[in-house]
Amino acid sequence: METAVEIDDLERKIRDLLSRRNAILLAHNYQRPEVQDAADLTGDSLGLSIEAAATQAEVIVFSGVHFMAESSAILSPQKTVLIPRPDAGCPMADMITRESALDFKSRYPDAPLVTYINSTADVKAVTDICCTSANSVSVVNSLDARTVLMAPDRNLAHYTARFSKKMMHWYDGFCPIHERLTPDEVKAVKSKHPDAFFIAHPECRPSVVDLADKVASTSGMLDFVKKSPHKEFIIGTEMGIIHPLKKANPDKEFIPAAPHMVCANMKLTTLQDVYDCLLEMKNVVTVAPDIRQAAKASLDRMVAVKRTD
Ligand code: SF4
Repeated sequence: METAVEIDDLERKIRDLLSRRNAILLAHNYQRPEVQDAADLTGDSLGLSIEAAATQAEVIVFSGVHFMAESSAILSPQKTVLIPRPDAGCPMADMITRESALDFKSRYPDAPLVTYINSTADVKAVTDICCTSANSVSVVNSLDARTVLMAPDRNLAHYTARFSKKMMHWYDGFCPIHERLTPDEVKAVKSKHPDAFFIAHPECRPSVVDLADKVASTSGMLDFVKKSPHKEFIIGTEMGIIHPLKKANPDKEFIPAAPHMVCANMKLTTLQDVYDCLLEMKNVVTVAPDIRQAAKASLDRMVAVKRTD
């Protein structure tokens, strides 16, 4: 763990290298606070990749997990994309492979496959359309099919099915961090904070979603809390989100739904890792051209969907 002086020093050295390399630093909402503070842009994975693609930067440093940097490489093929920690993976994204996605599809030949953005480029490439946790209902309802498949997150699919008019089948993947949160833990924290408003991420299990006052993606949480008259919130997602929530709402209080809501992969990246990767221009993330083209088509089809949720 870096000291405050080391953090200041590293941040200054990172800013200097960023400007010399014409680079931009992105940090996901679940990253360590000091990494978020050093970043040019913070947010959710798709929003960051879309924003970074629109900049003049030649280099993108993505502080997040591997599929996020891949999404940036898919959307910005002319830029160099670096990941400070190439070993930062996502256990949920790793629960499905290109082969298992094709096998899932083959069982329902007439049903389009909707794939959550938390997946590898290989899986996006064999997908009919992507979705995020913010637009899954709109994406599913936009499809001209009675039956729709969703992968890899069974919890997001279950949540989407509640609001969709389609018959849905889903893959049996999940995020271990969100899955771990139990209804009993939520009830216990609610009883300690009876006035607090409980916001859950749709990656939580259905029995936890049932207890939520609001269900939202990370960017949805940030928008909602800013506008909400409530002063106290129980946060049902990875704890990193509490940092930007506090920064944007210093007068409000945020209570983690459980102390174990920490994604070890998201916490791997330190400022030293960011500095080292920029200095050496190492850990370049690339996607093969044919996979990139097919994965981008799935992302483009998602972006074209008119939001209704
Ligand atoms: S919080 Fe869950 S979905 Fe996000 S990177 Fe960690 S394991 Fe993957």
